[in-house]
Amino acid sequence: MSAQSSGVCDVCGAGLSAPSGHLLVTREVVREPKYWEHYYRKHEAEFALLGVRSYEAFKNNPDLREMCAKTLAGQSTPWMVCESCVDMFGVDRQATRRYAEEWWQSGGTFAPPGVGRAPLSAVNMDEAPPTSPRPPPGKEGFLDRLMRPQRVKRMWEQAKKIGTDAQTTQAICSELLGMVDESSKEPDLGRVFIVRGNSYLGQDRYEEALADYSRAADIFLRRKDLSGILDCERRMRFLHISRIPKGASPGSEKAERLQHVHFASALMRIEWTYSSATQLEDLLSHLGDPDPDVRAFACHRLGDAPLIAPEGKKWLVDYYRKCLLAEDDRAALVGRRVGDFLFMGPDDVYPGDIVWMKLGRDVANSFVNCTCAHCGYPNRGIPVPLAGVTTPYFSRKDRHGEYSVLVLCVRCSREFFIAWDTDPRH
Ligand SMILES: [Zn+2]
Ligand SMILES: [Zn+2]
Repeated sequence: MSAQSSGVCDVCGAGLSAPSGHLLVTREVVREPKYWEHYYRKHEAEFALLGVRSYEAFKNNPDLREMCAKTLAGQSTPWMVCESCVDMFGVDRQATRRYAEEWWQSGGTFAPPGVGRAPLSAVNMDEAPPTSPRPPPGKEGFLDRLMRPQRVKRMWEQAKKIGTDAQTTQAICSELLGMVDESSKEPDLGRVFIVRGNSYLGQDRYEEALADYSRAADIFLRRKDLSGILDCERRMRFLHISRIPKGASPGSEKAERLQHVHFASALMRIEWTYSSATQLEDLLSHLGDPDPDVRAFACHRLGDAPLIAPEGKKWLVDYYRKCLLAEDDRAALVGRRVGDFLFMGPDDVYPGDIVWMKLGRDVANSFVNCTCAHCGYPNRGIPVPLAGVTTPYFSRKDRHGEYSVLVLCVRCSREFFIAWDTDPRH
């Protein structure tokens, strides 16, 4: 542990040469709970032999705790600490760097201010540190590798814990992402992205949250895990529902219309009651709003509307059929929610005859999946004309060709079009 006799970091053991590093004194080291957790991890295997299997258990073992505190606080020489380990300590880095330079120049005899043993009262292990520092690349020893699954498990538990602050959750998740891959079960890589995305969302950091939900969705898509995909899409919709009203200036007409959509959908219940049809109709009327944000908002709210009761499903299918007959532009958007009833998987296509079996013969449509022309996300359950499946179609940012169907992308919340060069209705 003596800095005078070694050219290595006294915390992690990394090699150091003049004039690098930081020179700390014992008091600065032992007052830092992060250091103590690091210390515990470093000796985890030895402690496990004593029956002490967690940092909590280590702290709650008075004998062990006192022994370690005495040993480390008793260090009278200064501590040489490398550039990455110094992050653990709340010290004035300019000063510690200068002391390190002096120490190298003096051949290891320089004594920084405050050098010497620390009183036991200076030891502080108790404040739970947000995360344990990762060993520097290439420095992971046999024991570290052995303890890795347990460490990953502990980190994941903390990341998911209610009450963990956003920064800590993000830091732990980012670290976990460097430690596990898609084959990992505990934690599941997609879930790590979702947990980090949720914590970004809690801070209104929409782009970062959306990026994480998208990465999770990509993983579930590759795995063809429909419930994982549905979960990601639900979170994306929730994100847009939170984000869109913040973009409307308070008191504006747009804000009022968004408010209106919000109330219409917030009142909806799982049971189908006498007022359900009125509320839904109210919500659906906004799918034709001139403002794309209001349309998108209504569409995302419809996507989350609790249409579980059979009467509710039947009502929506009927409404959809009427829109189709009237060649109402909203038909495509309403039909998308109808498409959700089919639970389309990542690669599914529902040709007309199967749709008839599931939704009734009057829904003369096929349902397909198509990637968004803006962001490339594979949107599912899009209603197209019967022959739309067998006639070549393309994803476009604007209306195009002989016939096109409007789609709202669940990921980027922008409208795109499925377009046919030959009209599939004839
Ligand atoms: Zn170090
Ligand atoms: Zn998109």
